[in-house]
Amino acid sequence: MNISLEDKVTVITGGTRGIGLSIAKVFGENGSKIAICGRSESNINHAIKELEADGIEVLGMKADVSNEKELINFADEVEKKYGGIDIWINNAGIYPLVKMLDMSLQDWEQLFDINVKSVFIGSKIAKEKLMKRKGGVIINAASFASIMPSVTAGAYAATKSAVYSMTKSLAAELAPHNIRVLGYIPGVIDTEMNKKLLEKNNKAIIDPLAMKRAGTVEEVAYPLLFLASEYASYITGTFIEISGGKFC
Ligand code: NAD
Repeated sequence: MNISLEDKVTVITGGTRGIGLSIAKVFGENGSKIAICGRSESNINHAIKELEADGIEVLGMKADVSNEKELINFADEVEKKYGGIDIWINNAGIYPLVKMLDMSLQDWEQLFDINVKSVFIGSKIAKEKLMKRKGGVIINAASFASIMPSVTAGAYAATKSAVYSMTKSLAAELAPHNIRVLGYIPGVIDTEMNKKLLEKNNKAIIDPLAMKRAGTVEEVAYPLLFLASEYASYITGTFIEISGGKFC
């Protein structure tokens, strides 16, 4: 199997670091043109440098995924530069480590804006762009947190449950347009997002994993490369769990 995304254009929200940046690298190395957005100008510039050093063609832009205007503007720029979009990855997210009822309403709303509203806005934009190419793929970041109780991040878990459900429904809604919709369920991946948690509770988090280690960002990106490719043409409305065998 020789996976190629030659002639494809991939948008990755939150592609400036962690899992998103790794997806950008792996998809880019396999032929796709890449577009990333994030919140921090310096992270965007850093990511662009890293990707270009690997010979990857990339457009990077500051855009807040919870802001419809900014995301539309970003997508329009991508279309202008590359002529269209084929793969859209709703990857950006935040993970506030706080008990659900200790949150302020404002923080709750911000979390849902960034983790859930962004998937609604992103998928709406993606539908319009992908239909112009007669089809494509949308991939959403869910989480293991959505399917188990969480004392430390209950609201985050709820946002990812919403993403889980949205992915299933969007797959049904968009299948007639030749758009596949999939999700990934990372367990514990070694990124900035859970650095603090891993530093504080390493044993408690790692011990229940069958493989007794956190995953790498590449271990998320490569399975997604397959899912985005033509080899996965009959797969939609489902998730790939990348967890090292959680709670075995
Ligand atoms: P990360 O914190 O390292 O990176 C998150 C990215 O999202 C960054 O590029 C950041 O700039 C971007 N982002 C955040 N808010 C944004 C906003 N409002 N607008 C635009 N960009 C924004 O996180 P990660 O570990 O790479 O996680 C990526 C995705 O995978 C997230 O959705 C996360 O919830 C999910 N996930 C991660 C893990 C894990 O173990 N790392 C586990 C389960 C799910």
